[in-house]
Amino acid sequence: MIVVLKSNPNREQLESLISWLQEKGIIIHTSIGEAHTILGLVGDTSQLDIDLIAALDIVEDVKRVQEPYKNANRKFHPEDTVVKVGNTQIGGGSLTLMAGPCSVESEEQVVAIAKAVKASGATMLRGGAFKPRTSPYSFQGLGATGLEYLKVARQETGLPIVTELMDLSQLPLFKDVDVIQIGARNMQNFDLLKAVGHQDKPVMIKRGMSATYEEWLMSAEYVMAGGNENVILCERGIRTFESYTRNTLDLACIPVLRKLTHLPIIIDPSHATGKSWLVDPLAMGAVATGADGLLIEVHNDPAHALCDGPQSLKPEVFDQVAKKLLKLHDFMKTLEE
Ligand code: PEP
Ligand code: MN
Repeated sequence: MIVVLKSNPNREQLESLISWLQEKGIIIHTSIGEAHTILGLVGDTSQLDIDLIAALDIVEDVKRVQEPYKNANRKFHPEDTVVKVGNTQIGGGSLTLMAGPCSVESEEQVVAIAKAVKASGATMLRGGAFKPRTSPYSFQGLGATGLEYLKVARQETGLPIVTELMDLSQLPLFKDVDVIQIGARNMQNFDLLKAVGHQDKPVMIKRGMSATYEEWLMSAEYVMAGGNENVILCERGIRTFESYTRNTLDLACIPVLRKLTHLPIIIDPSHATGKSWLVDPLAMGAVATGADGLLIEVHNDPAHALCDGPQSLKPEVFDQVAKKLLKLHDFMKTLEE
């Protein structure tokens, strides 16, 4: 349920409304907007009398929220969420470029790629240390050592790092990571979602390969219900009957999620297509459709990459793509003026 307050509500009346709701076990999320302040009520609101609340002097409107996701719902929080990471941010009109190798392979590799992508305009470094591979015989990532190499690359470039957490037991190793990625395969690992909800680092949740928008938003809700509101959504392609591309990129998710949620939206054209030549056009499509950023795999030697070489861009190609993306993003802003 949401309670929209009149502007400049009487303080005493507001405090008494809040404590009355809290006594009933309701958790209140306050969203202060330019025009209105909204109280988002979470808990068993079926016991509350809507008419009684609506009749209060300080209340403009009361609405029930039908969707099962509350914290992630735009009705609860009309303004876009901006996630701050180091000296950069995700959302709020900027274009975040997360770039780096699928897997961290060595210190030299990740540092060299980090320097290159930074010079091309990337604002964050991605790289997997713990890798969810379809085959147990494939390279599984360097694990804790990979995290150390990522930190060296961060130190050398200043780029914040985003990397995947696969299992609860790894969480203590992620203390010094900037953004925790929950991979597509773990989107509904509810214990993992609860655990990252109980810490304060930003969490990027990749869409499960067959997840609906609502299921995806419920995963965000798990994290937010634990108190962590720094959630980012990442579309990485879904499974369809088409087998030419690795997955099918769902760009419709951008306007749909904009309507349903206030959380920032990142598009990953690398995993969505599996083909490096498709990254450029789909990344451009994502920017034109209003994405807050992109996640792009970049490798110094894609032909010999230990993971996802065919979809990785060489640094010089990323450089051209990044320039086009930033130009298009600037142009899109002029259309909004
Ligand atoms: C990745 O980003 O490295 C990754 C494994 O992605 P996904 O979970 O989308 O497959
Ligand atoms: Mn990959």
